[in-house]
Amino acid sequence: MSESEPKRPAPNVDRDNAFYWEAAAKGELHILACRPCGALHHPPVPMCPDCLATDMEPRRMSGRGTVYSWIKPVYPPLPMFDEGLVVALVDLEEGPRVITNLLDTPFDAIHQGMAVEVDFEPTQGGHKIPVFRPRA
Ligand code: ZN
Repeated sequence: MSESEPKRPAPNVDRDNAFYWEAAAKGELHILACRPCGALHHPPVPMCPDCLATDMEPRRMSGRGTVYSWIKPVYPPLPMFDEGLVVALVDLEEGPRVITNLLDTPFDAIHQGMAVEVDFEPTQGGHKIPVFRPRA
């Protein structure tokens, strides 16, 4: 690992989630949608739990959302992340709830319903991962 290599671990890219990581590398947030019924599913699933269709396609999201819940992990230590890491559940404008990191926000300033927007952080292996920051 070089000195400039990001500390964040690389994602586990597989056949089902490759679209998600390819979109993130381009600075876009994509979520899997069921073509027949339009339901959005995250994490990606091979079959729609609503209508049982297997005809799925990635759809680009706005990147805007609101904070539903959040924690600051304290144990075990996570040396691959910066101090003050916040893990949050964010409700996307389009509906799906995603687990993510909330950056650039003092922990005490976070509140339910807080407006946030997606950004992308580099990981090891040259990937990017969607994270969220307060919306301006
Ligand atoms: Zn469906």
